[in-house]
Amino acid sequence: MRNKPIVLVLAHCLINTKVRAKGLTQHPEIKDKILKLAKKYNARIQQLPCPEFLFLGEREPKTYDGYIEVVGFKGSCEKLAKDTINNLKNLRDGTVIVIGIARSPSCAISYVYDRNNNLKKGEGIFISFLRKNLEATFIEIDYREIEDSIGRIDKILGTTSSL
Ligand code: SF4
Repeated sequence: MRNKPIVLVLAHCLINTKVRAKGLTQHPEIKDKILKLAKKYNARIQQLPCPEFLFLGEREPKTYDGYIEVVGFKGSCEKLAKDTINNLKNLRDGTVIVIGIARSPSCAISYVYDRNNNLKKGEGIFISFLRKNLEATFIEIDYREIEDSIGRIDKILGTTSSL
């Protein structure tokens, strides 16, 4: 039996879809899929804050470059990441897996959009501050490929839980 618990640290909108930017598709069904996985692997759940909603509230979608230009947003993400890491201190006995959102200006793990809407390699602004200071595995859900994403996470959790 695994002694170290798995802690799933989830992008806010995986649980609360209402924080997504105006006009973006919401995927309320994903919450149950994630909770099912958490149950399967006996993982604890921790929800991240939504940096964009906390800073701007309801908003039009922007690119990564667009958010970099929003005065104060980067600093706000840095502070939120610091607070989040402090809050996670009591879960340090666990194996932490952070689940971000593909192509999000704030929560992506691998690619973001530049000002011309071209994808470029890089992580979201909030995630970049988390990654600098949090020992964790970082993976992402792609809202365009939910089943594949869930399958990938299932595999990672399976491997992690067998360690
Ligand atoms: S991806 Fe991140 S910033 Fe965007 S809605 Fe989800 S939690 Fe908020």
